[in-house]
Amino acid sequence: MRRLLAAATLTLTLATPFRSAAAQRFPTEDPVLRRIWSIGMDSSHTMELSAALLDSIGPRLAGSPGQRRAQDWLVQTYASWGIDAKHERYGTWRGWRRGHSHVDLVSPRVRSLEATMVGYSPGTGGRDVTAGTIVLPRFADSNAFVRWLPEASGKLVLVSAPQPTCRPTTDWTEFATPASRARMDSLRTDVTREWSGPDVRGTGYSVALAGGGLARRLDEAGVAGVITSRPTNAVGTRSVFETYNTRSPTLSVSCEDYGLVFRLTERGSNPRIRMNLDAESLGEQPMSNTIATVRGREKPDEFVMLSAHFDSWDGASGATDNGTGSVTMLEAMRILRQVYPNPKRTIVVGHWTGEENGLVGSKAFREDHPEVVKGLHALFNQDNGTGRIVRMDASGLVDGDVHLRSYLARLPMEFQSQIQYGGTGTPSGGGSDNASFACAGLPGFSLGSLGWNYGNETWHTERDTYDKIVFDDLKANAVLTAMLVYLASEDPTMIGRERVDIVKAVEEQRARFAAQNPNAATTQGPAALQAPATWPECGLAPRKTAPRLR
Ligand SMILES: [Zn+2]
Repeated sequence: MRRLLAAATLTLTLATPFRSAAAQRFPTEDPVLRRIWSIGMDSSHTMELSAALLDSIGPRLAGSPGQRRAQDWLVQTYASWGIDAKHERYGTWRGWRRGHSHVDLVSPRVRSLEATMVGYSPGTGGRDVTAGTIVLPRFADSNAFVRWLPEASGKLVLVSAPQPTCRPTTDWTEFATPASRARMDSLRTDVTREWSGPDVRGTGYSVALAGGGLARRLDEAGVAGVITSRPTNAVGTRSVFETYNTRSPTLSVSCEDYGLVFRLTERGSNPRIRMNLDAESLGEQPMSNTIATVRGREKPDEFVMLSAHFDSWDGASGATDNGTGSVTMLEAMRILRQVYPNPKRTIVVGHWTGEENGLVGSKAFREDHPEVVKGLHALFNQDNGTGRIVRMDASGLVDGDVHLRSYLARLPMEFQSQIQYGGTGTPSGGGSDNASFACAGLPGFSLGSLGWNYGNETWHTERDTYDKIVFDDLKANAVLTAMLVYLASEDPTMIGRERVDIVKAVEEQRARFAAQNPNAATTQGPAALQAPATWPECGLAPRKTAPRLR
């Protein structure tokens, strides 16, 4: 009965609003594009692949046993489709095993807190540790901070902003009077400013910036641990704190429970928290990318690449960062295997690791594969959530613009109307793995997704789970990617490497932004517009854990 029900649900869920191939308006007669659409839309495997990766295997933190299990699953999955895939070793990175996190408020009342260790944090050796709390005060200067440190010894230090509300912004937009909404906005801005930036609370240390040093300085002062929280009602487990080499653990607590503990502490109720945290540091662990390859028949030394980082933070299962990007590329390869088994150019999939640690795997691949650098025709990267792809540009390559426009013109009208094409554009200076190629003037293109509240809700939080996936969009992304890869592989000419005049291009972008946002200050707008108008540097791939993190 349950199986029947599941099948019914599956069929129901997968019977999407997308029109059948027959009904879909294709600008060309190309039968391969039509078959890609049918297979991808009518018999999608995105749900099964996502369930196996995210629910059964789970998060893929760099250096963790979970990452290795997931990479082995990748190789087996490709093998089941007759595609050659292998692990390509490029270095090492700190290893860490996450066990349980049990965190309870035990005084002035008992409550199990929504809290977990941040990635790479030491545990309590599986023992119960109970400690009082203290809020990081505002200091006149860093000397005052040093003089205060003995007061924090043996205590849990609260180092994040106490949010005035844990309601989603949409509640305030919908229900608040304009006056109270404005008041809440300014309160949130002030509180965030007070607790972030390079000099938090006058300590001389930053919290959010990796290597910021505050957690390490507190640890040296003998604190029982550090308690953090993310602005929205999600728990952030991204280890921006150099927690690996500290003795005391760092916890991330939900907005609600962090506010509770903060207020109890501020009001002198002397809350006490009991932690039992199981974690193990594993030392330097081998790091590899998983690379799948289908050799080209006519131009085997020219490459079309699919790119999506496979590692994730581990507060949840890394569903939208970057499970959806990984499943997009996997599913695109499954489809291509059926409709385009003998590509003209060699098709390579880069399932990178170490992206969250600084685009490490993709940089290493570029450094280790001069043949791919020489023969790279196009690389398509996806890494910003489950939403349907709505943005593309040519990463600053003049000829790339010409080729991409020709591909877009051959896509089904559904996709053409969905994508805002940005023209030649400029190379992104970071953010995701396409940057590891664009920085070298290579055709590394980003497939930008529609938000679905990615930054607030799922990005590096413990809410990044299977249920956050929008399968209609994910399925369409796999079909669109398969089509782009097919068109790029069949492209009669190679994309040229002539770079845009970056100074002129950035000026144009700034002018466009100013025209679209007349009230915005020049310091506002996308980070790219703030950065000096230069071609981004590549930087070397760290082949082992960066010293500051060791
Ligand atoms: Zn990512």
